[in-house]
Amino acid sequence: MFTGGVFLSTFKTRAVVIKTQDIKESDKLLWLFSEKLGKISTIARGAKKNRSNLFSATLQFCYADYVVYRGKSLYTINESSVIHSFQDLMSDLDLLTYASYFCELVDISMQDEESNRELFRYLVTAFYLMKDNVVDIETLARAFEIKVLQSTGYGFNLDYCSSCRKKMNSSNYISLQYIGGICDQCERVNGIYINYATYNTLKYLSKISLENVYRVNLSEETKKELYKVLSLFIEQSYFRKPRSLDTLSYLTKFSEDKR
Ligand SMILES: [Zn+2]
Repeated sequence: MFTGGVFLSTFKTRAVVIKTQDIKESDKLLWLFSEKLGKISTIARGAKKNRSNLFSATLQFCYADYVVYRGKSLYTINESSVIHSFQDLMSDLDLLTYASYFCELVDISMQDEESNRELFRYLVTAFYLMKDNVVDIETLARAFEIKVLQSTGYGFNLDYCSSCRKKMNSSNYISLQYIGGICDQCERVNGIYINYATYNTLKYLSKISLENVYRVNLSEETKKELYKVLSLFIEQSYFRKPRSLDTLSYLTKFSEDKR
């Protein structure tokens, strides 16, 4: 917006708080994943004071409308209006861990100030599905990982052989290089063998919308293999491995030990 030749760097955008850090007595650093501006670093002055009108909009996972001003190195949050605070996700260790993991996935897969409205919608949808407790959280996590890969240019090619382009219904081999299936006629290098059931699930989850994940019912074995395959692809696609994955595998191991 130009007003008398002066560029006013104030923006209004929906966003989710994906990371926070306390600084000084009452200020907070926030990383927002916003619909219009992508991932941005912001400062919320005085946000830690209980009476501050920024207080609830600056909590981890909060989904809100923000008015931000672009400064030299950071954005400043001027105003906010909470849509859903998602503090319900804090009340359960599984929900908390998975919600943190989803935020971390967004963080590692996005460059600063690169807008990705599709991924933004996925994150908000995943939060609502978790809050409403309508899906199996592990299945949602796998579907979310697939959507993150797809919306950042690393989606799987599973309908055709990645080598000879022949149409195929299923396969038991995925190439890491081509991010796709390889038929049984082609040479299989630089990839991994998986079960046909896992391949089909990968294909199915790649096609359905995140809202429909509640329809999917997976065996423990398929869940385990999907987790392994997707972790591998996430690790190779982005600049660092998500740390929350370690917490997740610890939790999974812990719940298995209890059985
Ligand atoms: Zn082939």
